[in-house]
Amino acid sequence: MHDEVRHTMVDFMQMKSFAEDPLVLTDGDGIRVIDVDGRRFIDGLSGTFCASLGHGNAELAEAGAAQLRRLAMAAPTLATNDRALELVELLLGLLPDRYSVIKLLSGGSEATESAMKIARQYHKQTGNAAKYKILSHYRSYHGATGHAVAASGWPVWRAPYEPLAGGFIHLHTPDPYRPPFDVAPEAVAATYLRLVEETIELEDARTIAALITEPVLMSAGVVIPPEGYLRGLRALCDRHGILLIFDEIITAFGRLGAMFASELFETWPDILCLGKGLSGGYAPLSAVVLSRRIADAFWGEPRDLVQFHSGHTYGANPVACAIGLAAVRQLVRDEIPANAVREGERLRAGLHRLQEQRAWIGDIRGLGLLTGVEFVRDRVTRARFPAELGLGTRIRDAARARGLLVRTSHWMLVLAPPLTIRDDETDEILAILEAAFDDVVASGATASAPDVSAPLAPAPGAGR
Ligand code: PLP
Repeated sequence: MHDEVRHTMVDFMQMKSFAEDPLVLTDGDGIRVIDVDGRRFIDGLSGTFCASLGHGNAELAEAGAAQLRRLAMAAPTLATNDRALELVELLLGLLPDRYSVIKLLSGGSEATESAMKIARQYHKQTGNAAKYKILSHYRSYHGATGHAVAASGWPVWRAPYEPLAGGFIHLHTPDPYRPPFDVAPEAVAATYLRLVEETIELEDARTIAALITEPVLMSAGVVIPPEGYLRGLRALCDRHGILLIFDEIITAFGRLGAMFASELFETWPDILCLGKGLSGGYAPLSAVVLSRRIADAFWGEPRDLVQFHSGHTYGANPVACAIGLAAVRQLVRDEIPANAVREGERLRAGLHRLQEQRAWIGDIRGLGLLTGVEFVRDRVTRARFPAELGLGTRIRDAARARGLLVRTSHWMLVLAPPLTIRDDETDEILAILEAAFDDVVASGATASAPDVSAPLAPAPGAGR
């Protein structure tokens, strides 16, 4: 079985190193997944932020199976289907009244890609044909397709495919832990907003169609923007006729402890992208939610050609929608977001205890069950370890050897277990992480970190 691994590409991974120590999963059970050799792992990332309702969820499996027996494919260019209509109604019922239309799709990239196309088409159809540019943040990830990768902000994901589409402009990541200038904490939001405003002015607001952001920027390092930043973006967008798109592919459906992050931050976008947890990871399913104002611009006579000229074969697929219905109903019925709040707090409290004895844990941040741990070589300057040290990879491998799957980079660890997790399971994650940290420290990887007595807060003016 392991040899066949050489013939498949795993997302973002180097095939050679993956093939040397592959992970081949076969089964799932609650918060755990099981590999081909029978080893059990806690799924510390919910697949990729999808399996919010745990693995082996009988209700979701049955919803899919029942629909497969009824109708598996409804002619997507000629018809819709009863399950899609039910799901749209259910979602609109959970959202504020300002939203009126939902485009159902299958993947997150399809959703962000469509949202950006809808924004451009909206302006063309409402007398602002010059508006085409898209603003987004450096270090963001909005998907793998053309526009989505152009909006994404890490060079490593962009450079191999350049030149990318024109008209995509990047803003500074609103990172309160690493502001690019020495600013007092209370001035961080205003500083980042000032930079956004300047970009809008210099790019010419009359050419800007939309600004897309995650409310909490996962790929940027689980960055929670400083208080007031998202509200400030909303105000800037309104002032300059720019549509605000929230990419809530990760942050919705209880991941941050509320049904939508927009609700938590009291800031609602013009266009909302949903995915991942929408189906609990049991089927490819995503959605683009349009506010009434945007949707109205797409309503007209056939000769007007104002419909959305785009679609995907598996959009609004009845099986995916049946599973989505079951997943969202379960999330609401079992008050899953509240569990995410409780367990997220328990997880971060435990991580703070681990931080007390480990100088190289610089910051712990998160909301609900999306948590990031940032590694630093020095707590005062917040300097990172060199990438060549492979600290993140070592931690990831040590955790896996002890039965926990996590995401790491050379400066971050991300935890996002299923939202159904219980107290004892959260404690088990903490115990495994503690042992994995000890394994890595014993290997000498963090030897360059200073003494644990170094202050947690940076010295004034320490900057990056
Ligand atoms: N947007 C965000 C914030 C994501 O994290 C992802 C995927 O991880 C996407 C969009 C793209 O979703 P998909 O991989 O389903 O195309």
